[in-house]
Parts: sequence; C-alpha cells; structure tokens
Amino acid sequence: MFIEPNIRGERRGWIEVICGSMFSGKTEELIRRLKRVHIANLKVEIFKPAIDTRYDETNIVSHDTNAIMSTPIDNSQKILLMAQDVDVIGIDEAQFFDEELPNVCDELAYRGIRVIVAGLDMDYLGKPFGQMPFIMAKADYVTKLHAICVKCGHIANYSYRKIPNEDQVMLGATDVYEPRCRNCYNESES
Ligand SMILES: [Zn+2]
Repeated sequence: MFIEPNIRGERRGWIEVICGSMFSGKTEELIRRLKRVHIANLKVEIFKPAIDTRYDETNIVSHDTNAIMSTPIDNSQKILLMAQDVDVIGIDEAQFFDEELPNVCDELAYRGIRVIVAGLDMDYLGKPFGQMPFIMAKADYVTKLHAICVKCGHIANYSYRKIPNEDQVMLGATDVYEPRCRNCYNESES
C-alpha cells in the first residue's frame, strides 16, 4: 500500500491498524512498513505515548532492538499540530493514548495522510485495550498478528501476566508477560 494522487490530483489517506498480543511482532511490522515509506522518499513522523519509556526516550525499539526515531507525546491531539507536510504517520503503543486518538486518526486520514497504528488489542485480562477497539472499527485495514504460546506452541492471542498486579498498565516484557493461546490462558485463570 502506498500513497499516490488519484486522477483528480487529490491525495487519499487511510488508517491501518497492526494489533495483537505482546511478542506478536507489532512494532517490528510497524518498523518494516515505515522503512518502506523512507525508501519511497515519503515524509514520515512517528509518535508514541510518553508513558512508554521502557527502552529509549526517543526511539521506537522493538524487542529485537530494530530501532527507528520517534517523538514521545502526552496528548494525542498534539499529533495534529506536529503532522505538517507529512505523507505517513506511525503511532506505536496506541493502547496507552487518550480517548481522542480515534478522532485524531480520522482527521489525519481526511487530510490525505496514511496513518499506521500499532498497539495491543487486549489487556492482560483479555479485555479490549484503551482506544484500540475504536480505532480498529474506524480503520480501513486491520492486521492481527500472533505470538506463539509458551505453554503449548500454538498461536497465541493473549498476554498472560506472570506476577500479581491488578493495574491495567504495567510496563515490562518477558519478566512480566508471556504469550499464551486461548486454552492455556484460560487454564491459568481457574
Ligand atoms: Zn497454549
């Protein structure tokens, strides 16, 4: 997918979502798409929530440390101000953004911008996470990635939290979470 003017010379934007559990490769897929945008000489801006400072203050870094520069912001509407003269906007860890994010994505797409949103579709309880369900509903394209269940090796959709803590947001990686399939995730709940 790429942006090109249609026959009337106007540019059309759209929204793409990359979702899945932890360790499903969402950020790697976001980076892969954004690198192709660079190759096409299109202008790209990347944003992530200021809350997510696990690895680096300004880089989006996936678990395999494939890095790309991004801007941490604390309010999704700042994207509208900062997205001047860009062709493509990447948004990582979208589940942590405020409730205006779906409207912000809509507005960007109406401006003719390709918006690529990556985020967790479910929290550790298996509930839709933050604004992700709303962005998925508004999106033109949705890609759901899967991890591999550490218990049985089947496809994993769930982020199982290994240590007791009832906050919805608890940052961490393999020390805190492991990917599990539907059956292994539910076994642990009983
Ligand atoms: Zn399993």
